[in-house]
This record gives sequence, C-alpha cells and structure tokens, in this order.
Amino acid sequence: MADTMIRDLDLLRSPEYRRKLSQCVHCGLCLSACPTYAIFGVETDGPRGRIALMRAAAEGRMNVEDFRRAFAPHIMLCLACRACETACPSGVQYGALVEVARLVVEHNRTPSLGERLLRWIGMQLVLPRLWLLKLLARLLWLYQVSRLQRVVRAFRHWLPKTLRAMEDILPAIVPRYHDYRRPAPALGTPHGRLLFFTGCIQEAFLSQVNQATLRVLQRNGYTVYAPTEQTCCGAPHLHMGDLETARQLARRNIDVFLSQDGQYEAVICNAGGCGTILKEYPHLLADDPAYAKRAQRFAALVKDVSEFLAEHLNVPPRGEVKARATYADSCHLRHGQKVVSQPRKLLKSIPGLQLVELQAPDRCCGSAGVYNIAQVDAANAILDAKMADIAATGADLIVTTNTGCHMQLLAGVRRAGLPAKVMHLVEVLDLSYRIGDGTFATFPVSQREETR
Ligand code: SF4
Ligand code: SF4
Repeated sequence: MADTMIRDLDLLRSPEYRRKLSQCVHCGLCLSACPTYAIFGVETDGPRGRIALMRAAAEGRMNVEDFRRAFAPHIMLCLACRACETACPSGVQYGALVEVARLVVEHNRTPSLGERLLRWIGMQLVLPRLWLLKLLARLLWLYQVSRLQRVVRAFRHWLPKTLRAMEDILPAIVPRYHDYRRPAPALGTPHGRLLFFTGCIQEAFLSQVNQATLRVLQRNGYTVYAPTEQTCCGAPHLHMGDLETARQLARRNIDVFLSQDGQYEAVICNAGGCGTILKEYPHLLADDPAYAKRAQRFAALVKDVSEFLAEHLNVPPRGEVKARATYADSCHLRHGQKVVSQPRKLLKSIPGLQLVELQAPDRCCGSAGVYNIAQVDAANAILDAKMADIAATGADLIVTTNTGCHMQLLAGVRRAGLPAKVMHLVEVLDLSYRIGDGTFATFPVSQREETR
C-alpha cells in the first residue's frame, strides 16, 4: 500500500458509483440479514456501516491510515453474499458497490512474494486450464485413497491455518470424468438441445454433480453438449480483484458458447456462483465495444439448472427418496439470480422427500468464493451458525446448488459431527430417477464424504 495516497480512489468517485451510494438512506433494515453483523455485532461489519465507509472514502474524508485500519479490513470481511441487497427496501445495489470497493482494496495491497506466486499458479496457470485442474484433482484423489489424508487429518491442527482450511473443504474426489467430446443424447421423447457450462472446480472436484446434471437433463428429453473449450467463469478472479483476467475468461466463454450452431435453447449452469457471473457478463464487458452486445446475447441464454427444470420437468421423478431434507440456498443463486422457489418446487416433486425449511435460509454458509480460505476464523464462525440452524431441522439430507457451498457444507457436517449427507439438487433428482427405474437402491447412497 502506498504510504501517502490511496490508489485508484477514482473508482469510488465516478458519478454512477456516487449515485449508487446515495441510494442508501441509513434505515438499517438490512442489518438483521447480514451474517457478519450477526457474528461481530459492530456497525462497520454490517452493510450500512460499510456503505458509510465507502462514502467517506469517495468523499475524500479518509486518509491512508483510516483506509488501512478501517476501510480495508471491514470491506474484506464482507462475504459479498448480497443478503442485504434482498433485504433493502430502497433498492441499494450493494453487490455492485462492494465489488468496486474490494477492487480498490486489492489495488492498495502489496502481497508477499509467496502470495503472488500462489495467486499466479492458482488464478493464471491452473483455473483457466481445466486439464491442469483435473490433474491436480487426480493427485488429490491419490492422496485420499492412499489414506494419507487420514494421517494428515489426524494432525490437522499442526497445519498452517490456510492449508488447514483448504484441507477441510476438500471433497471426496470421484476418480472418473465424463468424456464431453460428444453431446449426451436425449432419452425418450426429444424436447430440445442444451449447452452445458461445467465449471472448473465443479468439474474437477465434484464431477459427480455434472454427471448427474447430464443424466437428469437427458431423462427430460434434452440433448446436452458441453463445449470442451469453455473455461472458468472468472468469479475467483473477480473476487481477488483481477478484473482483466475475469474479462478475458468472459470473452473466451462467450466466443465458445456463441460459436455453437444456434439450435441450443439455453446454457445450463448448476453452480449458483458461476451462473451469477455468467449472467453478469454484460456488466463486466459493458465498456468493450466488441463484446458488449455478444455478452448480452450470451447472458440471455444462461439458466440455472433449477430455473430451467422447474419449467421443463417433462418427466417427473418417480423413485421414493425417503429423507428429511433441508435446502441451503446458495447466496448467489438466491440474492444474485433471485432463484428461490424453483429448487424448492423441484425438491417437493420428489416422492418421499420431506422438505424442512431452515430458520434463516437466506444466511450465507461462509464459503463465499475464497472467503473460507482468506478469512478462516470468520468463515468458521459463520459456518457454525449455519450448521446449528441445519441441526435444528433434524435433516439427514442437506441440499445445495453451488460448488463452494457444497464443499463448505461437507466441511460443516464433519465439523459439527452431523449424521447428514450433502447433495446437489440434481443429484437428489437423479437419485429419485434411478430409484424409480431400479438402478439404485435407496437413500442414503453412501456416507463416504461424512465418514472420511
Ligand atoms: S442498504 Fe438499504 S436497508 Fe441498508 S441501511 Fe441502506 S437503505 Fe437501509
Ligand atoms: S454482502 Fe452479506 S456480509 Fe456483506 S454486508 Fe451484505 S449481508 Fe453483510
């Protein structure tokens, strides 16, 4: 951080940003929705206080020391979950405000050499190359099946905090990947063709979710094609303040998906976080004359899998899934995409499944992009609150719709010692179909994740 001036403060001073800031009337109605306000109980860790900090910075009422001691830590403790945005009666676009504030914080940091190297490896080298990410996942699969993970977990308290957090959220990796080079054909009566955004972490670490997504869409009469040239959505880069790489990845995805032959009716995404960014490509590329319109065309095609299936469940699931389930909303799906009723409608369509609502379904689980690695203590406190809410429902099945939440909830189940299984919504639908046609026995399928 520069000693004498705050870098890139102009980002907070644009007329548009100031207009968005001025929409807040300080009523405080958002406070009860904010997970960090609930945990820390101070104004500056709630949306109203953070907006006040942004306004002070924008109006030049903050020196470098204030910026370093107050602005940066309170902004970075925000999950960007946007629960406050849903709660706000004045329509404050908090998500857009905090995104820019985080950029300014990032531009004023001087990361250590080690952090810069790690970031380069993670963000520039691995995430945009799915084959490399899958190679890493294979190595981690070996680490799991060789039982080395058991040894490491037995001594996990000796690990550095960040490494421990990464180990905690590592899911049980499936050893086989689907070959996406050919479209997966529709089963039964054909209803159309879909493109599939597989995601990077989702495909490498939770590929069973993608495989279940394919099967469920196929059963509903859709031919599904996942272009192999697609790349990361850019969300992690955006979270880390690397706007330029996020834009490059967005351009590549737009090129890949719009170059298909036009007979596809939607781009399906099964991860709430990725889907939100894909739908926000027009905002990300608004100043790019070559891509602004293409980004709008692309975003109009993007649908969360639950959003699509709630309208196109052509073959209702028939197999009984005898489970007491609770649905843990993905913040990005709920507050970013406003997809709230559709996952619930689909769960209620599954025979035998009893859906029990959480007390605070709009509360973040603490995953929030890389928050659970960057802000370990805060993320764990938020996760503990989430798990207490889940435990109170008595659910033996926790249903999720986002990659980061999935991994965080698996860690939460272990942390809380809950006898519950974590599944993506499409896995539950797939299970019902498979029970219905006799290719699967019954729920629970396996407790592998919880017992390891
Ligand atoms: S963000 Fe909205 S709800 Fe929160 S204090 Fe401002 S106007 Fe009120
Ligand atoms: S985005 Fe989430 S954590 Fe951040 S201020 Fe809003 S409700 Fe609180």
